[in-house]
Amino acid sequence: MKKAKKKVVSIVAVVLCAAVVIGLVSYDYIKSSNEVNKTYIAMGTVISSSISGKDAEKATAEIEEAINGLETACLSWRAEESDVWRINLNAGKDVSVSRETAAWIGRALDISADSDGAFDITVGKLTQLWNIGSGKEKLPDKETIKVLLEDVGYKKVMVSNTSVKIDSFQAIDLGAIGKGIACDVIRDILKEYDVKDAVISVGGSVLIFGNKASVGIANPDNSSQYMATVEVDNQSISTSGDYERFFEAEGKKYHHILDPESGYPAVTDLRSVTVICDSGLDCDALSTACFILGYRESLELLEKYEAQAVFVFDNHTVSVTDGLKNDFKLTSNDYTVE
Ligand code: ADP
Ligand code: MG
Repeated sequence: MKKAKKKVVSIVAVVLCAAVVIGLVSYDYIKSSNEVNKTYIAMGTVISSSISGKDAEKATAEIEEAINGLETACLSWRAEESDVWRINLNAGKDVSVSRETAAWIGRALDISADSDGAFDITVGKLTQLWNIGSGKEKLPDKETIKVLLEDVGYKKVMVSNTSVKIDSFQAIDLGAIGKGIACDVIRDILKEYDVKDAVISVGGSVLIFGNKASVGIANPDNSSQYMATVEVDNQSISTSGDYERFFEAEGKKYHHILDPESGYPAVTDLRSVTVICDSGLDCDALSTACFILGYRESLELLEKYEAQAVFVFDNHTVSVTDGLKNDFKLTSNDYTVE
């Protein structure tokens, strides 16, 4: 086996020897004869896929098509005619959606309830107001935030098997779970094919299928490097942090994870939270929720979802949940494990 090439992408995917780095830049991978590697842009992020096995080629192609369809048909609030776009356009009315979209939104509501509303997809109007990551950010005025906050509330969303209704003035945003959902969709496709193992990264979420892989956790101070690695065995892993999308105004930093109680970026002593569990959607939602909740408040939630996590604090200490301790390795001298 030899190192095939070095690429610059937003996440790293490597089986054996090297690491998949969440939110990272440099990317090494190892090419074996039946391994298909592909990097492309979809869902507004970089997708890196490395699949080996007899059907690797076919699975790679089907996954790319499915991911593009997922965004345009279901998840994007920007894509005209997607399920989410229609739900928002018809706020106050029952909207027919695919069974999958209804189930994903239902699951998101469960996680909202279990996180006491820290995770809440009805922050849509606020995320549009802040527009963080757009390059056109302006500090919103307090009054507007206050007004929009009145309509935030997951309890007002009604879901059946095939329909979703939000309250008249609400808008939903599935940005915190889209990449995790993609990991679940990819897993279902891989199961249909003769595939040995796969590592697929969708922005800050990675699916490890088949073999174990070592995944790097980005250093929040320099996200092109990693500060630790975790062994992931046939599960998904997601990171939420304050360093990926943010802007600065009046000498302060504003990141993209909003506290649904204040309408402002969550105030926390955390730089990032990485969550590992069976479901990509759960990992993605939980990493966002835990970032807002903070370390102590997160532990019960993680237990309920049988998830493990790595918390990186702003004082350069790191906490790792018990079930992950044997699979976690610090690789940077700038951090210490609590
Ligand atoms: P990323 O999308 O960078 O991987 P996350 O998974 O943490 O990061 O999702 C952050 C995105 O989720 C935001 O850009 C926004 O669209 C949405 N969001 C922000 N705050 C919340 C929240 N409290 N609950 C649910 N979604 C949120
Ligand atoms: Mg998330």
